Amino acid sequence: MSFNILLVDDSAVMREIIKKTLRLSGIPLGELLEGANGKEGLELLNNNWVDLVIADINMPVMDGEEMLDAMKKDENLKDIPVLVVSTEGSESRIERLKAKGVRFLRKPFSPEKLRDEIYDLLGVNYHEQRADDF
Ligand SMILES: [Mg+2]
Repeated sequence: MSFNILLVDDSAVMREIIKKTLRLSGIPLGELLEGANGKEGLELLNNNWVDLVIADINMPVMDGEEMLDAMKKDENLKDIPVLVVSTEGSESRIERLKAKGVRFLRKPFSPEKLRDEIYDLLGVNYHEQRADDF
């Protein structure tokens, strides 16, 4: 099996860094989808099967927290694992996001750290997939 991953970040450079890390990580990749803001992210989520969302917080049009809130209200999207990758410095905002069930990774990060976080999040899916097979 392979994983379809949605990247939502207004920085094309950051999306490239994350994509490069994903390709080097050894994670079996399916489709890599990209959006530049939360609105684009939601549109992609509504039209594609996605196993993991990697999202920035600060973006124009719709930020990452608004996108996350919309996902949590949607029966089809609320259980998709989300890794928030951001320069966000506000501890209260980070705690609020974590309380909504997401992982948080602060930029800048090493490729190894990003890979480990993704493995950890997807490991749950591997496990569930196995359980389904039996
Ligand atoms: Mg940003």
